[in-house]
Amino acid sequence: MAPVQPSVALSSAPILPFRRERPAPQPPLHLSPPHLAGTELDALRETLESGWLAPAGPTLTRFETALTATMQLPHAVALSSGTAALHLGYRLLGVEPGDEIWTSTLTFVATVAPAIQMGATPRFLDVDPTSWTLDPHLLREELSAAARRGRLPRVVVPADLYGQPSDMEAIRAACARWGVAVLSDSACALGGRQHGKPAGHGADLVAVSFNGNKNVTAGGGGALLSADGAMIGRARHLATQAREPAAHYQHETTGFNYAMSSVLAAVGLAQLPSLEERVETRRAIFGRYVDALGLLPGLSFMPEPGWSRSTRWLSAMLVDPRRFGVDREAMRLALADQGIESRPVWKPLHLQPAFRQTPSAGGQVAAALFEQGLCLPSGSGMTVPEQFRAISAIRALHR
Ligand SMILES: *Cc1c(COP(=O)(O)O)cnc(C)c1O
Repeated sequence: MAPVQPSVALSSAPILPFRRERPAPQPPLHLSPPHLAGTELDALRETLESGWLAPAGPTLTRFETALTATMQLPHAVALSSGTAALHLGYRLLGVEPGDEIWTSTLTFVATVAPAIQMGATPRFLDVDPTSWTLDPHLLREELSAAARRGRLPRVVVPADLYGQPSDMEAIRAACARWGVAVLSDSACALGGRQHGKPAGHGADLVAVSFNGNKNVTAGGGGALLSADGAMIGRARHLATQAREPAAHYQHETTGFNYAMSSVLAAVGLAQLPSLEERVETRRAIFGRYVDALGLLPGLSFMPEPGWSRSTRWLSAMLVDPRRFGVDREAMRLALADQGIESRPVWKPLHLQPAFRQTPSAGGQVAAALFEQGLCLPSGSGMTVPEQFRAISAIRALHR
């Protein structure tokens, strides 16, 4: 908080002019606002005129087909959110009350929330400092120890942080040894690559999101993808209330109302062709931050291991307060003062009050990243002059 000016100047204080000249306020610069492709209205009109407003129909099928091409996986079901995709994933992989599900501690709460609501117990593993995603070495050790205890997790859920894909090759190998299933939270990594394949490849199921803040959006939505057609068929069945094919609504189990609306699929379908261009734009934004700020003492940037290509959904930076002169919270507040939105790196789940009783393995790496990490404006619609507003504001804070 800025100190309040005393209304009466004290005799020892310099006398300030009554009204100080302030520069005109500039429009706010957001972290990752939705970015329209320009073709959404036509796509919406076409879908509305077709009369298919239900979560079924040709637009939805075309969206799912486009997704399978993008993700290079043969089967996809479009859903109402990324969180719904994760929930269905847990259900398909047989999560039951008392089961353990393991994830990296540095992720968004939606990675684990559905499993917890199903009665599962999470266990949070630390991240690798070279990728900020699930540490495969730690995972291997923890799985061996769990096998010795006779209590393996039901599912391991690597989360692709800020568009950085997890090392699925190493994670897959570690889990395959013990027959543990993998559900990839690739919600923000559509367009990312690892080991020459799209994000999430190697997992049994891959969840993606089309929330308004992601690289491409449907105005909300998600999808679940897999190489296993039977699994996606079952996901589709569960996402549409588990209705058996009978006129009287026959049910052998209960499901969810999780299918994506055709109206949203039309928006997603209009956005998807620009994915590649948007990933390039976000990567250029990240590169510009590195070029303009990377040489200042105390500032460093989220790494990208050689086996991967991040979508750079959010540009994330570390602020070492001893070397830079201010800490990341002071920086965040100073930027906010100028209408520039930034956000701390996600608070690790093992530090969240909701998970006080939850077991974890390590966590110091993620805690240090939270302590110093700040996400900067990263939207693909941001102009270069707008980005330089953020860069100049950060530079001015260096002491
Ligand atoms: C966005 C996001 C989600 C949630 O997706 P929704 O579509 O908003 O439900 C989950 N996990 C991660 C890592 C995300 O970035």
